[in-house]
Amino acid sequence: MYCPFCRHPDSRVIDSRTAEDGAAIRRRRSCPACGRRFTTQETVILMVAKRSGVTEPFNRDKIIRGVQRACQGRPVTEDQLAILAQRVEDAIRSRGSGEVPSHEVGLAILGPLRELDEVAYLRFASVYRGFESLADFEEEIAGLRRERARDRGWVAGDTEGSRPAPGTGASPPPPAEQPPPAAKELPDNREPADRERAGTR
Ligand SMILES: [Zn+2]
Repeated sequence: MYCPFCRHPDSRVIDSRTAEDGAAIRRRRSCPACGRRFTTQETVILMVAKRSGVTEPFNRDKIIRGVQRACQGRPVTEDQLAILAQRVEDAIRSRGSGEVPSHEVGLAILGPLRELDEVAYLRFASVYRGFESLADFEEEIAGLRRERARDRGWVAGDTEGSRPAPGTGASPPPPAEQPPPAAKELPDNREPADRERAGTR
């Protein structure tokens, strides 16, 4: 590697140590020509295997570009996108494999994107998972609502009256498939019980 100061084509390693929890090696180098010192870093290049069989280096900018399209017109900042791409990379690298299939990269985007913006998430998921009908959207939205109900109401215990309180801890919480407390969203002329009876399945 060339000396970054004088372009001398050789350098001497004077120290070498692992960094980033063993995911990288840093070398302190000295230039024999100008005597200045600099540091280099060596990491595994994470490769993404595309469906065609071609592999290419993982590229955070590519993640950002892919998500940006789904975020058009949404209140999502460049910084948030950069953090999302970082999270995706961290998640993939933490699996300890030097190569991942491209669809796993897509999967790793879904979670952080859902936390960031639900509309952008739906757009991205609709393309990525190949939604073909309104029913696909409805199913995904129902899933988002369930997540929300789980995140808010249940844990915080602030859903009053819409279902029995969990008690003193003796009774287990209801199954996750149960619809969220959605009484307010029902038409006025229908009782929650009617809707449940008329519901799918
Ligand atoms: Zn030099």
